[in-house]
Amino acid sequence: LFITFEGPEGAGKSTVLARIVELLIEENIEVMATREPGGIEISEKIREVILNPNHTAMDEHTEALLYAAARSQHYFEKVEPALKQGKLVLCDRFIDSSLAYQGHARGLGIEEVLSINEFAIGKQMPDLTILFDLEPEVGLARIHAHSDREVNRLDVESLAFHKKVRQGYREVVKRYPNRIVVVNADQSIEQVIDEVWKILKEVVTK
Ligand code: C5P
Repeated sequence: LFITFEGPEGAGKSTVLARIVELLIEENIEVMATREPGGIEISEKIREVILNPNHTAMDEHTEALLYAAARSQHYFEKVEPALKQGKLVLCDRFIDSSLAYQGHARGLGIEEVLSINEFAIGKQMPDLTILFDLEPEVGLARIHAHSDREVNRLDVESLAFHKKVRQGYREVVKRYPNRIVVVNADQSIEQVIDEVWKILKEVVTK
């Protein structure tokens, strides 16, 4: 099973994912956790290029293509082999990030970004996606409270941009209503973990 976590910055995805991995291990479920962009050497290098705060001149087409390139290497080198070994794979971000950020928020078009991703990875889609939904104001306030976070080219983006990202995710949910489950991320981290665990436990232990 291939399960992805999606949502805006400050939604708690990575923290929840780390805790879910511990809970799965306690249940003796073999799990591999990874992230995008990154997860393996080549894709982590592409991540450095995409997110480098000095790269303010990066064109949105370049950005979309680099995300797709990082995705294809990561998928074929790490995700697919793990799935073939029967492992449960949890991935922090995947194609829906590209559809929401580059497709909708950057204005490239969801169809267009979908088509470059089909070139990159074929028709591969996650079996299940958990979308952490949150008011952008709340997510941004959480980020600013964590000064130890990695500096990233998106730090300069406006609230308007983050609102577009949320709208983009809503469009993606309309497109894939059976694959994506929306979780309210504006609760305590313990509550979010509980909610996500209930959903995953049902899926992975059946
Ligand atoms: O989830 P994480 O914080 O590691 O994501 C790294 C950064 O890349 C975030 O600022 C995220 O919004 C951005 N991103 C993006 N487009 C994507 C995937 C991530 O702008 N397709």
